[in-house]
Amino acid sequence: MDPARRAGGGKGRGIVARRVHTGAARAERAPATPAGYASGVDEKLVLSDEEWRRRLTAEEYQVLRGHGTERPWTGCFVGTHQPGTYRCAGCGNPLFRSGEKFESGTGWPSFTRPVAPGAVVEHRDASHGTIRTEVRCGRCDGHLGHVFPDGPPPTGLRYCMNSVSLRHQPD
Ligand SMILES: [Zn+2]
Repeated sequence: MDPARRAGGGKGRGIVARRVHTGAARAERAPATPAGYASGVDEKLVLSDEEWRRRLTAEEYQVLRGHGTERPWTGCFVGTHQPGTYRCAGCGNPLFRSGEKFESGTGWPSFTRPVAPGAVVEHRDASHGTIRTEVRCGRCDGHLGHVFPDGPPPTGLRYCMNSVSLRHQPD
């Protein structure tokens, strides 16, 4: 995480960085916006643990905030092909498009790339005795899954996601 993005970002318990919908409002806030923020990703959503527990189901909380993993072949998006956008179940941030979804055979919904470069953020994950790259929502920092370098063209990447972290919005 770039420290500059955190500085002045309103980070703190219970502070909600609300979505800004209008160009005028965005312009007003521009002086306080750290450099590099204009990447198409909405402002960060920071909630207290208590607020996340209220907002999410127990299953969603366990994965998004507790970095859990749903059991393979149990997620609602395994094998689905409905056109649309997959959004973060925690905050609604657009994450993936149906056109980048593919069948990886792993039992988790898989994508070759996110909808935009800043839609997700990556973190080094050394848990479970192995080094993996964790993928989190670029807006609320919720755990989504991991990315592996064994995906199909054009990226060669496999974004291995938990269904419970996603919401499908049909086109
Ligand atoms: Zn999110």
